[in-house]
Amino acid sequence: MRDIKKVTLPCGLPVPALGQGTWNMGESAGSAAAEVRALQRGIELGMTLIDTAEMYADGGSEKVVGKAIAGRRDNVFLVSKVLPSNASRRGTIAACEASLRRLGVEQLDLYLLHWRGRYALAETIEAFETLIRDGKIRQWGVSNFDTDDMEELRELAGGDRVQTNQVLYNLSRRGIEYDLLPWSIEHGVPVMAYSPIEQGRLLLQASVMDVARRHCATPAQIALAWVMRNPGVIAIPKTGSIAHLEENRASLDIELDAVDFEALERAFATPKRKRPLEML
Ligand code: NAP
Repeated sequence: MRDIKKVTLPCGLPVPALGQGTWNMGESAGSAAAEVRALQRGIELGMTLIDTAEMYADGGSEKVVGKAIAGRRDNVFLVSKVLPSNASRRGTIAACEASLRRLGVEQLDLYLLHWRGRYALAETIEAFETLIRDGKIRQWGVSNFDTDDMEELRELAGGDRVQTNQVLYNLSRRGIEYDLLPWSIEHGVPVMAYSPIEQGRLLLQASVMDVARRHCATPAQIALAWVMRNPGVIAIPKTGSIAHLEENRASLDIELDAVDFEALERAFATPKRKRPLEML
């Protein structure tokens, strides 16, 4: 098995290009133990970046993550998100403290604004900077920001300290390639690709299945290898299954070639014009 390739954040911290998502985890008590085991297997295999949010299962996902990382905190790069409705100066701090309690940790590695809401960005940045000074987070970033949002953010005091923009990106959602991805590469802000296998919908696409057959691989592995072909992109697939987790980890062993890229391009074309950023 190949080592996990790394993406370096603007602050200089290297993080794995393949991490773990946790949306829908913690929704049911019956599946929590399996979710904890899958996350722990991922950590063992080097998928140490774990993405959660106060929104997921109303804090239930953070509790599952807390169980999974107990005794392993130092091996994990922990990401959580504040809801826009909480993203005021004081609300951000209170939301972060509640996330820390649910996760059972003293510090988040990265704290993201989940999407833009009614509070001024300057207010949220101020709260993020206070959280850094108080040792409650190491770095901050954003999610679901389109190119104009990123430009506006970078104009604000401290806005150039943004570490990532977590956005929807996969074979069937290539809109960011028109402007946001080039902007991100130019400004050295890595993109964290969410729903990299389109929540499972890509797995039955004939073109993806054909490429998978050529590599004796699975469609999920092809979808992930394709997302991570860019050096500045981190993929965070979610799975509560150890078998799927191991399969996803092995996507890093796949080298897509020109024939694969052509076949995938025919099925999912490069965008030719600006499309507003899509969200799930
Ligand atoms: P995803 O990772 O594209 O797909 C997850 C689905 O695919 C699950 O149903 C999972 O089921 C299945 N799956 C995973 N690996 C598989 C495999 N090898 N074979 C077959 N099925 C597989 O979708 P996502 O959960 O929406 O996105 C990933 C993460 O991104 C989220 O969990 C969350 O952390 C983050 N996210 C962020 C935002 C945002 O607004 N910032 C929005 C959406 C998602 P099993 O569990 O049964 O394997």
